[in-house]
Parts: sequence; structure tokens; C-alpha cells
Amino acid sequence: IIRIQGLNKWFGHFQVLTDISLAVSPGERIVICGPSGSGKSTLIRCINGLEKVQQGTIVVDDIALTAGERNIEAVRQEVGMVFQQFNLFPHMTVLQNCMLAPMRSRGASKAQAEELAMTYLRRVRIADQAAKYPSQLSGGQQQRVAIARALCMTPKIMLFDEPTSALDPEMVKEVLDTMIGLAQDGMTMLCVTHEMGFARSVADRVIFMADGRIVEEGVPAEFFGNPKHDKTRTFLGQIL
Ligand code: ATP
Ligand code: MG
Repeated sequence: IIRIQGLNKWFGHFQVLTDISLAVSPGERIVICGPSGSGKSTLIRCINGLEKVQQGTIVVDDIALTAGERNIEAVRQEVGMVFQQFNLFPHMTVLQNCMLAPMRSRGASKAQAEELAMTYLRRVRIADQAAKYPSQLSGGQQQRVAIARALCMTPKIMLFDEPTSALDPEMVKEVLDTMIGLAQDGMTMLCVTHEMGFARSVADRVIFMADGRIVEEGVPAEFFGNPKHDKTRTFLGQIL
């Protein structure tokens, strides 16, 4: 459902991504990890067209993202994204946050958007907070709203960029549990995270990036049990 080939990207003279190739099958769950500055966020952002790519191709659900502006819009309709900072609109209620995109870019009626929003708010078990503003919620609750908001666009793929790193430890689990639920429902997921427990139990594949390259990848048992590259071992030694 995602095919990246020969991706190279620069910020000015600095090459942030080098020769990235990656294919993701429908329903596959991928965890991306690696040191700070290794290009994880940039790679994720390239997949929904938030970053411009200078070389290589990205195809998402048969849409060639790298072949024009119009395709970027089409891809964004199919890809949901959840950020470290929840990025909810502060002046809108939880419900309004979730209703906005389906109404704006799907032409949903108010009633349809509300029904959809309540469905996904129930799914992340936060429907009782629908009338509140983001600032009235805990970090974990806000992040679950952000997940529900992305789901309201009925994406085929969900991208997560360190969704739990800004949370207090006691709230990490509720967000991870929500993500585990999505995984069990068969969602295609790419998650940048250092939650290695999540990686072990949920990921089909773990990808390790360093210096803008994919250095190593494997199924969790192999990746954690028998890391092949020195950089992977050093990294795992630091975080486990
Ligand atoms: P972290 O774990 O800290 O989130 P990361 O692996 O997500 O790191 P990126 O955010 O993708 O790393 O950044 C990769 C490199 O690109 C870093 O050296 C960063 O300084 C640089 N970079 C990121 N965004 C930009 C930008 N808009 N302009 C210039 N350089 C950038
Ligand atoms: Mg990052």
C-alpha cells in the first residue's frame, strides 16, 4: 500500500534522507526507531506530502505522491497523521475538532460529520468529553482525540510520530492501548516510537534509522534478539 524507492531528500545542502526504499503491505504494522536527528519525522512527513522530496518515488495506494500537487491532496485523504504535540484546535470543542475535516474536505453534512465523530470518539473511549475544549483534557485524552480526529477521515493508513513522547508516564498506556486496538482492527500503521514494548508486541517489522538511512530492519524477535549493526546495538543499549 506504500512503496518508496530511492528516496533522497535535502534541507539546503544537508542530506536528511539517503537512499530510502521501503514497501509496506496493507495491514502491516511498522515501528520506526533511531537516534534523534536520524530523519524519522522527515520520512513520515514525506509519506503524506508534508515534505518535498527531491529524488525518488513515493506511491501510496497506487497514487504517485511524487508526481504532482494534485496527488498530494489525494494521498492526504487516505493517510491520517498523529503528532507528538496533539495539534488540536484550541478554540474548538473535541466534537468540532473531529467534525471539521469531514465537512471541509469530504462534503459531509453536519449530521453526518457528528455521527462519524461520535463513532470514533466512542472507539477511543472518550465520547463523554465531546463537548469539552482541548485545554480541559489531560494529555492522554487529547492524544486520543487527535487519533479519533484522524480516523474521522477513514484513512487507509495511519502515521504516528512519537505519539506518547509528550505525555506523562501514567498516560502513555491509554494511548498505546488505543493504538493496539487500531492494529487489531487491521489498520496499516507506521509508528515512530521508542516504546519498545509496543514494538515487540504489535510491530510486524521494526525499522532502525541512523543518519538518514535505513540501517537495519527485521521482525521484532530478530531485531531485538539479534541486532546486526553496531549502531543498532548502541541505540538499543541506550534505550532498553
Ligand atoms: P527526533 O528523534 O529528535 O524527533 P528525527 O529522527 O525525527 O529526530 P528529523 O526531525 O527528521 O529527525 O530531522 C532530521 C534532521 O533534519 C535533523 O538534523 C534536523 O535538524 C534536520 N531538519 C529537520 N527539519 C528541518 C527543516 N525544516 N529544515 C532544515 N533542517 C531540518
Ligand atoms: Mg522526530
